[in-house]
Amino acid sequence: MTLNVGVIGVGMIGREHINRLANTLVGARVVALADVDAKQAEAVAAGLPGAKVYPDGEALIASPDVQAVVVTSWGPTHAAYVLAAIRAMKPVFCEKPLATTAEACLSIVEAEIASGRHLVQVGFQRRYDKGYRALKKAIDDGAIGAPLMIHCAHRNPAVPEAYVSDMAIVDTFIHEIDALRWLIGDDYVSAQVLKPRNTKHTHARLDDPIIVLLATKNGVRIDGEVFVNCRYGYDIRCEVVGEEGVASLPEPESVVLRKEAKLSTTIMQDWKLRFIDSYDVELQDWIEAAKAGKVNGPNAWDGYFAAVTADACLEAMHHGGVAEIKTATRPKFYD
Ligand code: NAP
Repeated sequence: MTLNVGVIGVGMIGREHINRLANTLVGARVVALADVDAKQAEAVAAGLPGAKVYPDGEALIASPDVQAVVVTSWGPTHAAYVLAAIRAMKPVFCEKPLATTAEACLSIVEAEIASGRHLVQVGFQRRYDKGYRALKKAIDDGAIGAPLMIHCAHRNPAVPEAYVSDMAIVDTFIHEIDALRWLIGDDYVSAQVLKPRNTKHTHARLDDPIIVLLATKNGVRIDGEVFVNCRYGYDIRCEVVGEEGVASLPEPESVVLRKEAKLSTTIMQDWKLRFIDSYDVELQDWIEAAKAGKVNGPNAWDGYFAAVTADACLEAMHHGGVAEIKTATRPKFYD
């Protein structure tokens, strides 16, 4: 069976996902598109035989031709579309964030539980990255004993002027927030944000770099550097220190050159290239799960937990001190 997918939002990541659904992955076809900019949707549909453009996301979700939904529109629109997909009992893959407030994420959790089916997957693609999976396996296999500390860094070469301080948490560090919690199977209890002196490459509305400190229920301490004007490349680093050893995220594959008395490898510049394979694995997994009737990737609870953690990071960043991370009780539905 081929899964008939409708995509809401044909911006940058929307077009990437449409391209992989249509040309790279197997078992799905894009039959429906919607975007606030109908012309853009029409332009994308022109390259997709049989795809129909709907006047809005709600109409797309309601269409009997659409079996499953991908939400890649602007963040503030996500919650309404995900709730509509749940009401229609259709599997929905929603790019992060699941919703822009923790309350809205919780309402999705409640709606999904009330539906009685696991329908929602959130686009935290690092869980599908080969390197992160190998790192998790080493931890789960007990190779380094119980984790004690994690040191990590999220570095981008540069960001545009429109990128402001809050985005370092809600757009950038949000990926660490989800990936690290999944990596060690532990939940966060508090957050703190330290601000070293700013790089000369930043602007008035962006503190760069920052260091996010997280503490977990089991007492693991995490320090995460976010440095989005680091200049040299897109570099994701993660080192987990355990009782018996240390496990590090492998470097992405790259040829090592020995030339002119130097040993060198290339460092990527573009985050899309760093995670391109994981997006493919993520969406292929979602297609199979949606066809089987039960979505099984990062779920609505994970989206909610990430939102609560991001809120605490923002509180700590704006007001200083240590912010407590307090969530609702995890429902058995997500065990
Ligand atoms: P983008 O290029 O701005 O695309 C968003 C698209 O959604 C635009 O075409 C926008 O139209 C459209 N849109 C806005 N409101 C809509 C509505 N009510 N109904 C339907 N479409 C609507 O943004 P993007 O970079 O693709 O990001 C989209 C989402 O994906 C964001 O939530 C972002 O955080 C997430 N994302 C995730 C990753 C990841 O690594 N997992 C990477 C990139 C992005 P207009 O341009 O006309 O407003």
